[in-house]
Amino acid sequence: MSDCFLPTTEVFGSNVFNDSCMRERLPKNIYKAFRRTIENREPLAHEVADVIANAMKDWAIEKGATHFCHWFQPMTGLTAEKHDSFISPTSEGKVLMEFSGKELTKGEPDASSFPSGGLRATFEARGYTAWDCTSPVFVKEDGKNITLHIPSAFCSYNGDALDKKTPLLRSMDSLDKQGMRVLRALGNTTSNHVEATLGPEQEYFLIDKEYFEKRLDLVLAKRTLFGAPSPRGQEMDDHYFGTLHERVASFMHEVNTELWKLGVSAKTQHNEVSPAQYEIAPVFTTVNVATDHNQLTMEVLEQVALRHDFVCLLNEKPFAGVNGSGKHVNWSACTDDGINLLEPGTTPHDNMVFLLFLSAVIRGVDKYAKLMRASVANTGNEHRLGANEAPPAIVSIFLGDQLMDIFEQLANGGAKSSKQGGNLKLGASTLPNLPKDCTDRNRTSPFAFTGNKFEFRMPGSTQSSAGPAYVINTIVADVLAEFAEELEASDDMEKTLEEILARVAKDHKHVIFNGDNYTDDWVKEAEKRGLPNMPSTVEAFKSIPDKEHVELFERQKVLTERELHARTEILLEAYGHEKAIEAKSMVNMAKRQIMPAAVEYAERLASSINAVTSAGVTSTSQKKMLEKFCSLIDALDDSTAKLEVAVAEAAQIEDIPEKAEYYRDKVVAAMTAVRSVADEIETVVDAKIWPLPTYAEMLFLK
Ligand code: ADP
Ligand code: MG
Repeated sequence: MSDCFLPTTEVFGSNVFNDSCMRERLPKNIYKAFRRTIENREPLAHEVADVIANAMKDWAIEKGATHFCHWFQPMTGLTAEKHDSFISPTSEGKVLMEFSGKELTKGEPDASSFPSGGLRATFEARGYTAWDCTSPVFVKEDGKNITLHIPSAFCSYNGDALDKKTPLLRSMDSLDKQGMRVLRALGNTTSNHVEATLGPEQEYFLIDKEYFEKRLDLVLAKRTLFGAPSPRGQEMDDHYFGTLHERVASFMHEVNTELWKLGVSAKTQHNEVSPAQYEIAPVFTTVNVATDHNQLTMEVLEQVALRHDFVCLLNEKPFAGVNGSGKHVNWSACTDDGINLLEPGTTPHDNMVFLLFLSAVIRGVDKYAKLMRASVANTGNEHRLGANEAPPAIVSIFLGDQLMDIFEQLANGGAKSSKQGGNLKLGASTLPNLPKDCTDRNRTSPFAFTGNKFEFRMPGSTQSSAGPAYVINTIVADVLAEFAEELEASDDMEKTLEEILARVAKDHKHVIFNGDNYTDDWVKEAEKRGLPNMPSTVEAFKSIPDKEHVELFERQKVLTERELHARTEILLEAYGHEKAIEAKSMVNMAKRQIMPAAVEYAERLASSINAVTSAGVTSTSQKKMLEKFCSLIDALDDSTAKLEVAVAEAAQIEDIPEKAEYYRDKVVAAMTAVRSVADEIETVVDAKIWPLPTYAEMLFLK
């Protein structure tokens, strides 16, 4: 029977060696030892690992797996895997299927070709992967190849983090430690751990594969570099939440099924604002598992799209003139016994745990606003932030009416009451009265409190959620450590709490903004308030190794100065590479596709003029058309030549930040000039000879 006829409850997690699988297949003492490892955050004993590995292998082989791999997340932002089969040849010319505890817990990929930002020279090839046993292993079916995947961290021979997972796990430890200190100081004796929870909403575009293949820009640079606007765009607001197109709905169905098999709790799906744009969101879970699941979601979206003759575009800005794609990262912190520390309850003004954790987030975000901004910087997101479709590059916080009121009360010496939402009466006798939330939503804020969590709306759609998440974990942990010190030293807890809350409310009022973040007025107002505004990706990257950031990460043991510098270099270098690919793709298309089409059209106009003239008629309008068109050809030729020069000059620059700046300042400007003339040419040339699928075709035809 095919999977689609199996009940979802049976499909869900069927490819995951999860807790229930372990309980069923492992000897009781081994299962208990494994649970202790997880609960006490201890390394796994060898004997235990051997037994687990063997049970995992048997399970994976039953699922058809022949190989295993350590699945890790290098600094490319993608995932990496190197497959090894389970086979072990015997002297009789046969094979045994083997898998040891050592193979499960540790891998040694030759890792010299991953970006390391100078942490390792190419000749120092050794890298290590280590199983993150808090994220369950799973089998993944790639065509006929079925492989046991082991979610892993990746580091260099010297133990430097070379991936996104390691700092995330370290930041979870520090949030746990500092969060527990605060909870204990407040008298909590039942919880043992504090964990960050994450729910990433993933936006993406789907276009027909046939169009994709005809666009070198999409194939190589992952976004369109040319394209006149479609006569119809998103102005009718008719795509958002619209009825799903049947072909898209079938695609989504298969995506869900594949994700459910992998234990990813895909929950919400809908049409997004731009035509051809969609969203998928899971039910939130622990931050490292949620990040692994988001990587799987992106992979599954891309894979399944091809089966439906679509291509899934994950880029932040595949099309100019319509909305780009983000990844809203919903974050909260939760105890192991299920208390959401950002749950305000009905009377938040007297909920001390909530108020302290909320204050920690507010202080952290304000103090490290630049780092928050840098955590969402990438080439694609540069087109999104501040373009009236996503928040500007200014970090501010939305609290809403109820919390704003409490925050003001705190600043004035103590909170005495909480505003309540009341009921909504809809005016028709058959409609129910709805309990009204205490606060409206704000869709324009970069960091919005949404009831019992924060929604970080700046991250871009291709980004790993690890970066933004470990920054939030770290800054919150750092402020919690400050609070813990004060609380632990206090002999009048009530007074100390009041002081902390009042101080945060006064010191950080300027980062709270409940209005429309998409207006120019806000940009001006933010400047007056002294909030940093960093529209440039390169600027944002350059601020990463600032002294206060190095100190923060070292204090919380999340990244060393060396690691932070290496990361910055990797990001700046990648920016340059991506811009170079875009610019070179553009030159290629301008010279080999757009110019030939333009010349052909000019030739047609010229022969038409000749034919008309020899028939004894003078066509001044055709002559004018040709003259005007030839000047566009000149402009295309000229701007393309300038772009080529800029690319060649950029290639000569050795210094990585300087190179990135050159791309940002010179190459991007040269690209804009080429695009503007090419897009004008597109609006004139005969549609039959235009070599590229148009925006209207790509966005509207399925
Ligand atoms: P929106 O209306 O903001 O688009 P969605 O339902 O699309 O909301 O996504 C909200 C996301 O936030 C979901 O992934 C959801 O599981 C997640 N979420 C809810 N509560 C929490 C929490 N406590 N911690 C982290 N994420 C959460
Ligand atoms: Mg959503």
